[in-house]
Amino acid sequence: MNVILIRYGEIFLKGHNRKFFENILQKNINESLKEFPHELKKISGRYELSGYDVEQEKAIISKLTKIFGLHSLSVATKIETDYENIKKECLKINLGRQSFRITTNRASKIFPIKSMQVNREIGELVLENNPETHVNLHSPEVEIVIDIRENGYTYISTNDIQCAGGMPLGSAGKGLLLLSGGIDSPVAGYFLARRGLTIEAIHFHSYPYTSELAKQKVISLAKTMCDYLGSIKMHFISVTHVQEEIHKKCDGDFMITLLRRMMMRISERIARQNDAGALITGESLGQVASQTLQSINATNAVVDIPVFRPLIGFDKQDIMDVAHKIGTYEISIQPYEDCCTVFLPKNPVTKPKLEKVLREEAKLDIDTLLNESLASEEIMIIQK
Ligand code: ATP
Ligand code: MG
Repeated sequence: MNVILIRYGEIFLKGHNRKFFENILQKNINESLKEFPHELKKISGRYELSGYDVEQEKAIISKLTKIFGLHSLSVATKIETDYENIKKECLKINLGRQSFRITTNRASKIFPIKSMQVNREIGELVLENNPETHVNLHSPEVEIVIDIRENGYTYISTNDIQCAGGMPLGSAGKGLLLLSGGIDSPVAGYFLARRGLTIEAIHFHSYPYTSELAKQKVISLAKTMCDYLGSIKMHFISVTHVQEEIHKKCDGDFMITLLRRMMMRISERIARQNDAGALITGESLGQVASQTLQSINATNAVVDIPVFRPLIGFDKQDIMDVAHKIGTYEISIQPYEDCCTVFLPKNPVTKPKLEKVLREEAKLDIDTLLNESLASEEIMIIQK
């Protein structure tokens, strides 16, 4: 019988609360595979997925590799443990010219033959049956794993498939991601979702200065992120009036600093209203004027909630590599304007002094602007 063996990663290190993580993981797997009939069973230290339609195996694997908390999987043949059975099964393996190695894991000590001997004997058998192959113990093209479990069954598989790693989504509480249309913020969200945070997202627009297409772009980004997140609750907030007021009343070079301070205040309010315990941004130290240490200090100063910046020490190229991997890059580079680019100053301050920021900000009616922006909230639930 064909099954998929699924191994989980870091949860393995958990002590007495491992059950908590396992339950969430199991729920997430079943949820992700809800359109495919299947049976999921926990066997010591891993899951066995069976009862699925082999035609759907590829699609199922594609789903599984995107579930946080899973380390790797392999398609395996499950047989009753018996040496003759094992040999018969291994004779079916067709390697062509690919090199191989046998790795036997004898979890069941009732099985009388030691792993090394199984490796040797089955190895010889496979060699005889595939005259063009050769053994390569260190970096084989195909690793044949013979997993002899305590449950009376042996699982034979070739080459593991890597999964997303991390911790089960939803096991670490909730974070509110400041999602712009750029390359960085989706990647930031990905990394923290991978640590188990449920993600909600907030996007600031300056409609009608920013277009409907810019909003559609953010929706497409969120949709793509649903590959990993399942669904995302999105909050759209207008900062048009905030930008107009800053433009009218303040020193233009402080536009971005002042706008970002408003974004942080609004985000903290939305986070609290939605039980999110942290904000998440895609900032990376020194990347642009608004991301120098002084700028980050100036924007961070207005909130009293943890702000996670998972990309803070990343180079742009590293961030782009991840964006490619998670499928957001091509959407992010579409050229629609972000609200930050409207009213963009020629010389944005790179080292804003807090007294000067406060002096400029004093020209604004912060509370009214904050409430106006909050009142503009539009909520959407985004799904694949
Ligand atoms: P990104 O590529 O994510 O757009 P960026 O390099 O353009 O980042 P900034 O514009 O300085 O950098 O923004 C830094 C962070 O602030 C973003 O990663 C995002 O978390 C947040 N942010 C910026 N603009 C918006 C917006 N319009 N709506 C929501 N969050 C935003
Ligand atoms: Mg941006």
